[in-house]
Amino acid sequence: MSEKTQPRGATCEITSPFEMVQQRIDAICERLKTCETCHLRLRECERELIVHFPVKMDDGRIEVFTGYRVQHSDIRGPAKGGIRFHPDVTLDETKALAAWMTLKTAVVNIPYGGAKGAVTCDPKVLSQDELERLTRRYASDISLVIGPERDIPAPDVGTNPQIMAWIMDTYSVNKGYSVLGVVTGKPIALGGSKGRFEATGRGCTITAKLSAQHLGISFDGATVAVQGFGNVGSVSAILLAKEGCKIIAVSDSKGGIYNPQGLDVEEVRSHKKATGSVVNYKDAEAITNTELLELPCDILLPSALEDAICAPNAASVKARMIVEGANGPITPEADDILGDNGKFVVPDVLANAGGVVVSYFEWVQGLQSFFWSEDEVNRQLQMVMDNTFHEVLEISQREKVDMRNAAYMLAIKRIEEAMMTRGMFP
Ligand code: NAD
Repeated sequence: MSEKTQPRGATCEITSPFEMVQQRIDAICERLKTCETCHLRLRECERELIVHFPVKMDDGRIEVFTGYRVQHSDIRGPAKGGIRFHPDVTLDETKALAAWMTLKTAVVNIPYGGAKGAVTCDPKVLSQDELERLTRRYASDISLVIGPERDIPAPDVGTNPQIMAWIMDTYSVNKGYSVLGVVTGKPIALGGSKGRFEATGRGCTITAKLSAQHLGISFDGATVAVQGFGNVGSVSAILLAKEGCKIIAVSDSKGGIYNPQGLDVEEVRSHKKATGSVVNYKDAEAITNTELLELPCDILLPSALEDAICAPNAASVKARMIVEGANGPITPEADDILGDNGKFVVPDVLANAGGVVVSYFEWVQGLQSFFWSEDEVNRQLQMVMDNTFHEVLEISQREKVDMRNAAYMLAIKRIEEAMMTRGMFP
């Protein structure tokens, strides 16, 4: 067990994230009577690459960094998943994130498997040149296993479109020709898709709205607290505000801000851009990440890291619904407590799937060299999220399970069907 710097509201002892995923897979496979081969294969990652690589720092020193690329499954298509740069990231966490990607791509029914990559580093203390050298060397080392038909990375915590551009360039230079389809989340100038940067937050907003309709909560004026003000959290906050919601609190790794009258989130974003944090924004009072999670509000969006809501603080969550912008922000024990307290949880594999859906659109556009308008991207995303939400809700009501179990049931059935149809080599 470890105690890492996580965005949790209380001190949580964390068991292995990958074991937590395995336990959930076990429970669903037992319930569905999934074939044993499928169950056993889903419990493990197909491939785990660990790389230790040198980077020349600006002061002339050489540092050796550790990185990972884990492919959990490519049963339904090329493995797909982001790359995380974070000081605490481990192989175990990367495996859990890869498994969630397999489930996520199956929930939204796009022809991908699941993967994840990571480098244990703090991108905030690296210069731009150091970040570029680190990214290029990591990309070169993992190019053994990635590729547009094998495994396609994308941005995650601590990475962004510029980093995707360096990965695409490094892979292409090693190949001898330009390979646009090797990563998604690229800048538009390099074959990125319109709407990709906003896609995860847009997906969260769509599922939050559908959930509010289902629960009979008026979206117009609904109060929202958002933990994490990066790609997912800030875009969600801005889009939710455009839909009429009142964003009463946001936070990042340095702390949170609260204004019960509502924050001007565009202004908060400019403040964060200028100062590096949401903290000290003028029209708000300071709160901690713990306090943010426990605020009375209609919608809570944990959009930072895993395990934000765990057994010790779950009972203090007052929001009526929780939309998981982050991957794995609620531990299984906390999930049970929230369920007992009548909270409606939109699980990560559904709520934040908008990113991988538009990554898929980007990959398709790149392969066809034919690019869509932003309206077209958003229209197609809306359709996928809408259909998936209703499919999951229908299973949840029919099987009398929560939305997470329903989403896992949908995903595992699809993966099992693909596995059975493919058969097994040799
Ligand atoms: P990001 O790096 O852009 O932002 C992360 C945010 O979390 C930052 O504001 C950071 O300050 C904050 N944070 C970090 N540590 C924290 C702590 N201890 N307490 C409070 N806040 C903290 O990352 P992102 O891309 O927005 O990803 C956030 C989450 O969403 C992750 O779980 C990621 O896996 C998931 N996700 C991202 C995407 C995507 O397209 N980027 C897609 C699906 C899921």
